[in-house]
Amino acid sequence: MNGQVAIVTGASRGIGRGVCLSLAQRGATVVAAARTEAALQDLVEEARRRELPGRIDARPLDVTQREAIAPFVDGVLEAHGRTDILVNNAGITRDGLFLNMEDDQFDDVLTANLRSVFWLTRAVSRAMLQARYGRIINISSIAGVMGNAGQVNYAASKAGLIGMTKSIAKELGKRKITCNAVAPGFITTDMTDVLPEKLREEVKKVIPLGRFGTVEEVAETVAFLAGPGAGYITGQVLVVDGGLRM
Ligand code: NAP
Repeated sequence: MNGQVAIVTGASRGIGRGVCLSLAQRGATVVAAARTEAALQDLVEEARRRELPGRIDARPLDVTQREAIAPFVDGVLEAHGRTDILVNNAGITRDGLFLNMEDDQFDDVLTANLRSVFWLTRAVSRAMLQARYGRIINISSIAGVMGNAGQVNYAASKAGLIGMTKSIAKELGKRKITCNAVAPGFITTDMTDVLPEKLREEVKKVIPLGRFGTVEEVAETVAFLAGPGAGYITGQVLVVDGGLRM
C-alpha cells in the first residue's frame, strides 16, 4: 500500500485504531479521524514507536456534523492529493427496548452509523471516480444481519449499511471502485466491555470458536479487502464472528 492514502473514521480506539495500524503496517498513509484528539495523537505515537512503514495523519472529525465533511475531505486532498481507501468505522450504540425507545435514541444512532457514511462516502468517492480507483469498506455488524433484541436502532443502521454497500458497489463498479462490508460479531473493545459479565459468558457458549474476537482479527480482514488480493470482490458482507451466525 506504499503511496496509497486511506481514511479511517472512528480511529481513536477499538477496531478503527487497529485498522489504522494494519494499513500503516502495509505502508499506507492513514488519515485517522475521530473526535478525541488526544487519543489520535497517541495513535500517531504508537505508529512511530512501532516504526511502521506507513504514517498516521491525525485529523479530528465528528462524522455527525454534516457541514464538517466537505472541509475534512478537502483538507485530506490538499494534504495528500488522493484517497484510495475509505473505511467507515465510526459507530455508536444507544441500546433500549423497542417499545421504550425514544425518537432521539433512534435518530442519533442512524445519524452516527448510517447517514454519516452516506455523507462521507459521497464526498470521498468523487475523488475516487476521477482516479478510477477506490476501496470502500463499511463496518456493519452481525446485528444488521441477524437483528438483536434491544438494538432496533443499531441493527437498522447496520442493515442499512449493507444495503448501501451493495448499491454503491453496483453504481461504482464500472469505475474500478469496490465497496464491501465487514460484519463483526462480538469483538473485545469499549463497546462490548460494557456488557454484563453474565451475558458475555452466555454469548461465548454459542460462539463456535468459544471466545470474543480481537481488534486485530477485524483489522486484518479490512486490510485484506483494502489490498490487492481483494480486487475482484465487491458488494460482499464478510462476517467476522467466530461462527456465531452459522
Ligand atoms: P468503540 O471502541 O466504541 O469505538 C468507536 C469509535 O467510533 C471511536 O473511535 C469513536 O471515537 C468513534 N466515533 C463515535 N462517534 C463518532 C463521531 N460522531 N464522529 C467520529 N468518530 C466517532 O467501538 P468499536 O467496538 O471499535 O466499534 C467500531 C465499529 O465496529 C462500530 O461501527 C461498531 O458498530 C462496529 N462493531 C463493533 C462490534 C464489537 O463487538 N465491538 C461488533 C460489530 C460491529 P471518538 O469518541 O473519539 O469520536
